[in-house]
Amino acid sequence: MLELRKYSIGVGDRFAHQAKAQLNACVQAAAQGIHVVPVWNKSFREHGIVGSEPPSARVAADAAVAALGWSDPYHVDADHINLGNVDGFIEASDFFTIDVAAAIGQPVPDADAAAFIDRHSELKGELEPDALAAAVARYLGAVGEAGRIYRHVAARKDPAAFITEVSMDETDSPQTPPELLVILAAIADEGIPAQTIAPKFTGRFNKGVDFVGSPEGFEKEFNGDLAVIAQAVKQYPLPRNLKLSVHSGSDKFSIYEPIRRALAASGAGVHLKTAGTTWLEELIGLAEAGGDGLALAKQVYAKAYADRDALCAPYATVIDIDASKLPAPDAVNAWSAEEYVSALRHDQSNPQYNANLRQLLHVGYKVAAKLGARYTGMLDECEASIARNVTTNILDRHILRVFPKR
Ligand SMILES: [Zn+2]
Repeated sequence: MLELRKYSIGVGDRFAHQAKAQLNACVQAAAQGIHVVPVWNKSFREHGIVGSEPPSARVAADAAVAALGWSDPYHVDADHINLGNVDGFIEASDFFTIDVAAAIGQPVPDADAAAFIDRHSELKGELEPDALAAAVARYLGAVGEAGRIYRHVAARKDPAAFITEVSMDETDSPQTPPELLVILAAIADEGIPAQTIAPKFTGRFNKGVDFVGSPEGFEKEFNGDLAVIAQAVKQYPLPRNLKLSVHSGSDKFSIYEPIRRALAASGAGVHLKTAGTTWLEELIGLAEAGGDGLALAKQVYAKAYADRDALCAPYATVIDIDASKLPAPDAVNAWSAEEYVSALRHDQSNPQYNANLRQLLHVGYKVAAKLGARYTGMLDECEASIARNVTTNILDRHILRVFPKR
């Protein structure tokens, strides 16, 4: 089995221009004794919006690895795939995030649910009978779907040559640790060699901004999940290195210390997905470069502002924007580079920081995609200031805060 190491970070790169700057953060972390494997993830939806194909993510990752002489593992993740869209990813990917959130609650035959409960008498000690029946009714069908997707991939690619994640995060109601145990028992029954599992945690994981909820509650839940995973890998035929995957994990500064503490205390690993944060650093780098770069960053904001309803609609459950706090494009057009950067950079100690503007731009990458070569050409022109921001963001604000030294 291709084994995912203990600490890994999902680095999304919408326009396939920042792999080197992202990898550079892992290089610098390793020099400080924190070894984190980069995983370049991109979903079918992202490819569709940007107008790219899955092999482009592999090409960008391979080039960055060659340029920096990275000799540790790295992976390319077919993110949030399902039976309908996985085929285009099979060749280029060695990591598959099987997304079955949409199948949660899918009905299963009574006989299957009863057989599962009979087979897993050990679960009766973990959940009350009603709670166990409810968890089985809710998740057994979704795990069955994950099994079908896994076998579809495994029939087309050597199962020893890829990493499997099961994700259920894109749903409204969180999974409790006992429910996670039921899910893992079902995953083992399906024969899915899951190395990462992405539950929906309690609280809001809005795009590109801090966690909204109780960090204490999160810490308790996270530790509960770690305990369940430790128990499940002993009890069921699951990979010993199975670990949690935190989706929408970028910029959740208030829970990084709880995560780091939990990992240090338990010895567990984690996969942290940080897809959208790099695209915002591109905009910051463009603005910092001044001149045409700044002008383009302002243009992206103006268009995102004009299209805000359409851009926000698909992300309603993962953004909270107070439209009255969005600056008018005329005001932004008068900003200096420093004013633009202050509003966008995720520095909560800066009084100019504007989480509303940041979330709008986060979902506004479609605007840049439509600019096509004008946008990517400017990325090349402003590479120095962009790369500096991309690397610093991944290293200082993410890796060094989340992963314990060992
Ligand atoms: Zn996700």
